Amino acid sequence: MTRPDIRTLIQEGTEQIGRFETMVLLAHALGVRREFLIAHDLDVPDEEKAEKFRLYVVMRKSGTPVPYITGEQDFYGRFFEVNPSVLIPRPDTEVLVDTALELFDEAPRVLDLGTGSGCLAVTLALEMKNSEVVATDVSQEALLTAERNAEKLKAKVAFRRGAWWEAVGEEERFDLIVSNPPYIRADDEHLANLTFEPRSALTDEGDGMSALAVIALGAPAHLRSGGWLLLEHGYDQGEACRNLLQHAGFSAVRTVKDFGGNDRVTLGTVGHFSG
Ligand code: GLN
Repeated sequence: MTRPDIRTLIQEGTEQIGRFETMVLLAHALGVRREFLIAHDLDVPDEEKAEKFRLYVVMRKSGTPVPYITGEQDFYGRFFEVNPSVLIPRPDTEVLVDTALELFDEAPRVLDLGTGSGCLAVTLALEMKNSEVVATDVSQEALLTAERNAEKLKAKVAFRRGAWWEAVGEEERFDLIVSNPPYIRADDEHLANLTFEPRSALTDEGDGMSALAVIALGAPAHLRSGGWLLLEHGYDQGEACRNLLQHAGFSAVRTVKDFGGNDRVTLGTVGHFSG
């Protein structure tokens, strides 16, 4: 039997999972850039690589997200290693980065609670001059992944293990606290489509507000005067988060929308009172 050339493999994949994902997975299987596939479509890859591609197509067809197959996801212009122990970074979360960068551009002390892949901590460490970034996660596997990302991308981040405030010293203060915690309601039908990602990164197994509440209520004690808390949340949790932050004593509370026009990030500051 003749071995398939690149053009044939592209056809084979496109019929099953569409052209875009076929190109991504074939390039990954062959260890080449996507542009190479077009320029060399009559090349005949090694059998082993062609088989690898076919396996990727089967995995994709059974629902595995592309980033878990390729092992990487782009976030804020950088590639992060991902695996099933971490949530796949979403473009919506880039809104949180943009908002943080508008507030501080130099020397902030930053805390990222529940860092997962480390995408927020690493990005903030690299985008903010002279920042000092601490990132926590309860999951050891997630922390190891985040550590590898920080190392690969040359970001200076101090990682600590613990749930929410557990890994933060009582006396510690930050200028900026960020988090993208599990905020999906346990009975949200959306969860059914997210079975490949760590469930504990997606839902609090309750109304979706409990992690947000623990973080918001604990944050004022760990913020310097003039410091900010930025929380990512669900499209329908903007009002609840604004109420939560106000209740926790924050001022200048507002919600920022994501690229899809949905409420996505709520922030507030702990004021300095003079006089
Ligand atoms: N934004 C993700 C989603 O809805 C959820 C992320 C999270 O729970 N922190 O798919």
